[in-house]
Amino acid sequence: MTAAETITTEAGRDFIRDIIQADIDAGRHKEIVTRFPPEPNGYLHIGHAKSICLNFGVAAEFGGRCHLRFDDTNPVKEEQEYIDSIERDVRWLGFDWGRHLYYASDYFEQLYAWAEYLIQGGKAFVDDQSQEAIRATRGTLTEPGQNSPFRERPIEENLDLFRRMRAGEFPNGARVLRAKIDMAAGNINLRDPVLYRILHASHPRTGEAWCIYPSYDFAHGQSDAIECITHSICTLEFEDHRPLYDWFIDNLPVPSKPHQYEFARLNLTYTVLSKRVLTTLVREGLVSGWDDPRMPTLAGLRRRGVPPEALRDFAKRIGVAKANSVVDVAMLDFSVREVLNRTAERRMAVLKPLKVVIENYPDGQTEELEALNHPDDPASTRKVTFGRELYVERDDFMENPPKKFHRLSVGREVRLRFAYFITCREVVKDAAGEVVELRCTYDPATKGGNAPDGRKVQGTIHWVSAAAAVPAEVRLYNHLFRNAAPNVADFASEINPQSLEVLADCKLEPSLAAIPAGQAVQFERQGYFCPDGDSRPDRLVFNRTIGLRDTWAKVKGGG
Ligand code: ATP
Ligand code: MG
Repeated sequence: MTAAETITTEAGRDFIRDIIQADIDAGRHKEIVTRFPPEPNGYLHIGHAKSICLNFGVAAEFGGRCHLRFDDTNPVKEEQEYIDSIERDVRWLGFDWGRHLYYASDYFEQLYAWAEYLIQGGKAFVDDQSQEAIRATRGTLTEPGQNSPFRERPIEENLDLFRRMRAGEFPNGARVLRAKIDMAAGNINLRDPVLYRILHASHPRTGEAWCIYPSYDFAHGQSDAIECITHSICTLEFEDHRPLYDWFIDNLPVPSKPHQYEFARLNLTYTVLSKRVLTTLVREGLVSGWDDPRMPTLAGLRRRGVPPEALRDFAKRIGVAKANSVVDVAMLDFSVREVLNRTAERRMAVLKPLKVVIENYPDGQTEELEALNHPDDPASTRKVTFGRELYVERDDFMENPPKKFHRLSVGREVRLRFAYFITCREVVKDAAGEVVELRCTYDPATKGGNAPDGRKVQGTIHWVSAAAAVPAEVRLYNHLFRNAAPNVADFASEINPQSLEVLADCKLEPSLAAIPAGQAVQFERQGYFCPDGDSRPDRLVFNRTIGLRDTWAKVKGGG
């Protein structure tokens, strides 16, 4: 996606909003009703966020409502844990379904009645063929399918068999109910699709009440009709299902006539958005769980410190289109930085510490200095403790610096942020020759970071007091997959071995102990970080949400 495309979608509307506006202008609907219909067989990911922002977004913009409907027609893969996580994640993203929480399973009785209605109208039949036989006689894109030998069963026999299917008289797979449409239809979905299959399985909500379950196609549109959905928005892979969707709506006595519209699903570089793959990553322990901060799930993004506002901003920027494309993950990073730069408080943290001793600062003395919490809000400050022993970043010292290195080396003066100018006088090395300590002096006249004589320093570095600092583990995350377009067929071998880097010996400004889990702060000069739920009072754990570097230029250039 280019910047120009982004700007058009940002400024204008998309084709879905155009359709809705036209429907309103033509008086076709009084109220716009949409729905977000997740199947509770996994956690929501950022692709779902695109759909949630679209469905809830248009409902809000046009003064309508959006339902949350669990598409729970497959008891084998669905669990209460997923239902709970989906509700939590939609709310976290900032949307509210009010009292409009629904389950496709609530409609099982109605769907069953409509199946009998089709049978009675000669438009559905019980097929005794095996699944394989049905598949084998479906035909291809170029050849028609063949009629089932059971297609002309008398209505009474169909009714009797279907009722006995429901009563549990037959084992799994023994029979199915199929619509009687057209085995020669150009659209394969219209070749006598399966409406019900036998499945002796306990359902998270209906328990043992049913041993036949409706297909996605038979449940989805009719659920839309029951809820009086006006615009049923789904992803492009359902475009070929639309004629079947319409066939059911036209052939059943449904209370409303919804329409299906398709948009392009979100694809992101370095990311896999398939629930099947995400489930496998969790099951096989390739990640720590659904909320592993490297996962593209909303739970993972939340744990990593990504604010919901950034996801809504991202959804707005990528827009809604009719053609599939792959979005550069740098666009997501851009939205995250954009929001956090505005909202995250600044703190100081040293990730790879190097000890500094200020030789002319009295032993045992400390002082509290004023530090800014955000550059845009000079009124908001906090105290940081200064003392004789500090930590600075190992990378902020060089023994033999190149000319352009404006940080610490022997003989150079730098500013300690919010504190004093210090000059490095000497290095202390261990037996292996590694620098383990810097001996420095400070200029007491430079308190607050400015010299009264107008003397300038080229570098400003962050620091923490050695006595006051709290120890922490900091987890740095990189792309979970090493290739921009991961090969889903063999995704285990595509995992980036460097996707997690743990820094075990970090030193944080003590005020960071009070930040709640999930809330991102900026570690000055390093990036955005948030406390992880693994934190203990004596050992904080922080996740890096994202580094500071602005890659928008790269995104704009398309490179
Ligand atoms: P998967 O194909 O990984 O199993 P799904 O599409 O079946 O995912 P659902 O729970 O059925 O997952 O999805 C709920 C809604 O979210 C659907 O309307 C679906 O079209 C939409 N959705 C799923 N993935 C994406 C995506 N990558 N981009 C946009 N919308 C998506
Ligand atoms: Mg689905």
